[in-house]
This record gives sequence, C-alpha cells and structure tokens, in this order.
Amino acid sequence: MDRVPVLSLLTKRNIRVDSMDCPACGLMEETTEHIFVSCGLAQSVWLVISTWCKVPQLFAFSVCDIVESYKYSKFSKRKAKAFHAVCLVTLWCLWKARKDMVHNGSIVTVGNVVEEVKALSYLWVKNRSSGSSLSRSDWEKFGCF
Ligand SMILES: [Zn+2]
Repeated sequence: MDRVPVLSLLTKRNIRVDSMDCPACGLMEETTEHIFVSCGLAQSVWLVISTWCKVPQLFAFSVCDIVESYKYSKFSKRKAKAFHAVCLVTLWCLWKARKDMVHNGSIVTVGNVVEEVKALSYLWVKNRSSGSSLSRSDWEKFGCF
C-alpha cells in the first residue's frame, strides 16, 4: 500500500532528508519497490530464500508479486502457508536491515538477513500452526515437515 516510510515517500510528506539514495547500495533512489525487490541486497536475499525453499527464483516486479508468490507454488496447503510466512518475514527482515543501516550504522550482509529470516520464520510457523513438533533442523531443510 506504499505506506512504508522510505525516503522517497518521506520527501513527499515534506520531511527533509540528506539523501534519497538507497542506504544498502547507494545506486538508486530508495523506494518501496527498490528496497524490497530490486536492490542488490534484496535480490541476493530472495535468491538464497528461493533456493532454501526449493522454489524457482522469485522474479518480482513489486512487493505484491512477492506477497502473492505462495499462490503459484506447487506446495501442499500447509507448506504454501509456511512459504507465505517466509516471504512476509523476509520483507520484515529487509526493512529491519534497512533501519539498522540508517539508524545504527550497521553493516548488513545477505547472510545476516537470511539467518534472521530462517530463525524468525521458524518461530512464526512453529508457534502459529499445528506444527508444534517442527524442529529447527527440519525447518533448515524446508521440505521435511
Ligand atoms: Zn539499493
């Protein structure tokens, strides 16, 4: 819904910013689509997540494409819901990574973001589904639950 306060939207709300460049790559203006879809950091994260979840590489043009990608998977209903959770957690972790870079000066790596996605999505799926017997090692395989 374009409500995430990225730099391009903040300037439209008359909030002064020093630069509108993406804090991750510095190559493009920071827009919602850029930080979640087209930034090199985001693309690298999505590539690793796609490989982990054993789905074809996500080719998305918008955040909506990512949010709805589980609908086109060939997973069982339960596994598709888990994949949907992974996509939502990935969006959250990309946003958190961006905030850490901007506000804490943190250096963010693809590996850091992916590990956070795996840990947080495991907690979400384990605690929000009937998968209470799901082990972390099974989750790491994303296919054995
Ligand atoms: Zn970028």
